[in-house]
Amino acid sequence: MKGTVKFYQEQKGYGFIFSSEINEDVYFNIKEWKNESIPNGNDEVEFQLDENKKGKFALNINLLKSALEKKEEQSTKKDDRIICFNCNKKIVPRIMYLNAAPYSSHCPYCGETIKKFQHNVIFIIFTVTIIIFIVMFVFIASTILKIF
Ligand SMILES: [Zn+2]
Repeated sequence: MKGTVKFYQEQKGYGFIFSSEINEDVYFNIKEWKNESIPNGNDEVEFQLDENKKGKFALNINLLKSALEKKEEQSTKKDDRIICFNCNKKIVPRIMYLNAAPYSSHCPYCGETIKKFQHNVIFIIFTVTIIIFIVMFVFIASTILKIF
């Protein structure tokens, strides 16, 4: 039977495992913990179920996946890999740059555009200002050239 360690009282040497198979908490004694590590809340375990007058208890508890391992797995899952909606592959989007600013991201397999980045507002203002200056310069230059 599979379950998850709910908690473990180190001083008293016992704890409880929750099993979703029977939707119940199962008592365990540390003597039945057949692993090198100390039981930890959220450890995934496999055990044999037994019962006496006091209730259900676990025997021969084997650690399947420790809480720490689960945590590490979750954090590596939080990488920036996504599923390409075009080719359904798990990808890390390739970012294309325009004028040193991220412009868009693409699937490395099929080249599909994943995301177009919003242009930086400062970049837009900067570009517009330069265009205005060029137009003004041309206008002033042509006016001066007409005079002389
Ligand atoms: Zn793709």
